[in-house]
Amino acid sequence: MFYLLKSFIQMKILLNKNDLNEALENVSNLGFVPTMGSLHKGHISLIKESKKKCNKTIVSIFVNPKQFNNKNDFKKYPRNRKKDLSILKRLKVNYVYLPTVKEIYRVKRSSRIIISKKDKILCAKYRKGHFEGVIDVMERLIENIKPQKIFMGEKDFQQLYLLKKYLRKHSSKIIECRIIREKNKLALSSRNSLLQKREKNLAAKLITNIMKLKRKLNKGSNIKKVLNKTGNEINKLQNVKIEYLELRNIKNLKISNKLKNSKIFVSFYINNVRLIDNF
Ligand code: AMP
Repeated sequence: MFYLLKSFIQMKILLNKNDLNEALENVSNLGFVPTMGSLHKGHISLIKESKKKCNKTIVSIFVNPKQFNNKNDFKKYPRNRKKDLSILKRLKVNYVYLPTVKEIYRVKRSSRIIISKKDKILCAKYRKGHFEGVIDVMERLIENIKPQKIFMGEKDFQQLYLLKKYLRKHSSKIIECRIIREKNKLALSSRNSLLQKREKNLAAKLITNIMKLKRKLNKGSNIKKVLNKTGNEINKLQNVKIEYLELRNIKNLKISNKLKNSKIFVSFYINNVRLIDNF
C-alpha cells in the first residue's frame, strides 16, 4: 500500500502551462516522450531510453485532432487513459502532461506551416494536412515543455525526418529510437488494437513477406518493378489495400534503386485500419 502510494506521489500529472512552469522550473536535462496514448511496448522503449539519458522524464498524452485527415479515424482512435496512467506510474515517469485541445490551441499561430512540394511524398501525399498538424502540435508542446531531448520512434520515419527539418530552430534534440516489433515482426502500434486477430496475423504475414523480399533483392534487381509487382499482388487480397511500397534513401527520402542507405517504406489498409512500417 505504502509502495503504491509512493509511486503515485512520485508521478505528477500536469494539465496546463501553469502546472508545467511550476513543476519544471528547476529541472535540467528533461527528456520528453510525446504520445497519443494507448501505450504499448514501443512507447515504453522510448520512455526507458529517456529515463536512461535524462534526469527527468515527461510523457504527454494528447490525441491531436489537427493531424487526423479523417474525422472518423480521430473518433475511433483507441483511448485508454486509465491503463496508460498505470503503465506510466509503474515506469516511474516523473511527469505526465495531459492537455486539452483548448489548452494546446489557445494561442493562434503567427505563421502557417507549409510543407514543400518535394516533401509531399509517402504519408504526406496520402494524408492531407497530417504533417502540418504534427509539426504544429509538436512546436506547441516543445514551447510549453522546453525539453532538452525528445524521444521519438523510427516507426514514424517520415515524421522524424520532417520534424528534424521543420523544427530546426528549436534547441531540443530529437533522439531516434528503434522500432519495437512483436515476435511475428508486426511493429507495435496503438492502431493494432483495432484489428481482429486474423487481420493482425495477415498484417504480420505481409510485413514478413516484404522483409524476406528485401533480403532477396540484390544489385541486379529492378527494385521498383519488383515492388510494384508485389504491391499489385497484395492488392488482390480481400480487404487489403497498399497505399505505397517504395524503396527510399534514408537521408533525403528520395526514391532509390540501391539498397545501401535505403529502406522500404510501406503503408497499407486492412479493412479501414491504416498501418505503416519501414525496414
Ligand atoms: P503515437 O502515440 O503513435 O503518436 O507514437 C508516439 C511515439 O511512439 C512516436 O514517436 C512513435 O514513432 C513511437 N512509436 C510508435 N510505435 C512504435 C514502435 N513500435 N517502436 C518504437 N517506437 C514507436
